[in-house]
Amino acid sequence: MVYVRFGARLLAAVLMLAVSYLVLTACSQSEQTAEEYLMGTYVTLKVYSPQAAVIEKTVERLREIENLMSANLPESEVGLINGAAGKSAVKISSDTFNVIETALYYSQLTNGAFDPTIGPLVNLWGIGTDKARIPSNKEIERSLRLVDYRTVILDKEQQSVKLPYAGQALDLGGIAKGYAADEAKRILKANGITSAIVNIGGNIMTLGTRPDGNPWRIGVQDPLGPRNSYIGIIQLIDETAVTSGNYERYFEIGGKRYHHILNPFTGYPSRSGLLSATIITKRSIAADALSTAVYVLGLDRGMELVESLPGIEAIFVTDDFKIYLTKGIIQRFDLTNPEYKVENSGQNK
Ligand code: AMP
Ligand code: MG
Repeated sequence: MVYVRFGARLLAAVLMLAVSYLVLTACSQSEQTAEEYLMGTYVTLKVYSPQAAVIEKTVERLREIENLMSANLPESEVGLINGAAGKSAVKISSDTFNVIETALYYSQLTNGAFDPTIGPLVNLWGIGTDKARIPSNKEIERSLRLVDYRTVILDKEQQSVKLPYAGQALDLGGIAKGYAADEAKRILKANGITSAIVNIGGNIMTLGTRPDGNPWRIGVQDPLGPRNSYIGIIQLIDETAVTSGNYERYFEIGGKRYHHILNPFTGYPSRSGLLSATIITKRSIAADALSTAVYVLGLDRGMELVESLPGIEAIFVTDDFKIYLTKGIIQRFDLTNPEYKVENSGQNK
């Protein structure tokens, strides 16, 4: 297993690689473990594969992505863009440029429910850090004025990004893990791996089937239960499942929970009636952006959006313990926790 912390802003991310071969399974699987601490990042490796080098390459790539895109590292490309806000454009790698471009695509698609310029608000609330607090309305208003994905200036030719107003800040925490999962899969595949599962802090990516040819069985986190307790199981082949929820990072004051998914219109943690939203599709970058977005949009608007997108499925868990599924996931979801109830059969309510 590999534990990777994508900086303090992102969840302690877990990369779990159970890599095995369809043919070689029984005879040549060996277990290897390794632990590292790098740039504030814990990396632990547990590999079921004779090919430790592939795992190392994958982890190296994840580290590279963190170093490019973490908003907490002033020397990362996102750090440099934020440092130059209101001043100048910053030339960046195609990696970071593509992730920002994709983030803005999902901002448009979701009418700003997903907004990578959320940085000033993320910093203000400090959720998940030791500076977490409830800001004043005035502070929230001030930060909110800086949050607007439409202001980001992309120059494709120069491959540069500019934030036009001082104080603006990008935060790719809602999408970078998805990109990392896609990249992990690409590298594993390019190195001949046909069966793998990658878990980056709740972003699950599967490659192929299980070594025995059956689909991967993935537990959907119970938003109210302890870690690794599930509401149900979904079956995946070569797909990703990404969950956004109010249980990942939060603090509580006066019985009220303040969590890390912020509503870009109010400036407060989103209160849409959802406990979690899971997106199932091929590309983890899409699933990551959309799970954050539909969590903000809530059940009705989220369901409408996902049903309009081909190849994308969703599982919504509402705060009255009901589960709503899109049409394409009904056959592949098994409820295992009787405290929840599958409410619809994918039809609009
Ligand atoms: P996720 O866990 O993928 O739902 O992403 C949550 C993280 O994305 C937060 O910790 C912030 O860094 C960032 N974030 C919070 N609210 C939003 C939002 N409305 N749009 C985009 N990113 C957000
Ligand atoms: Mg996300």
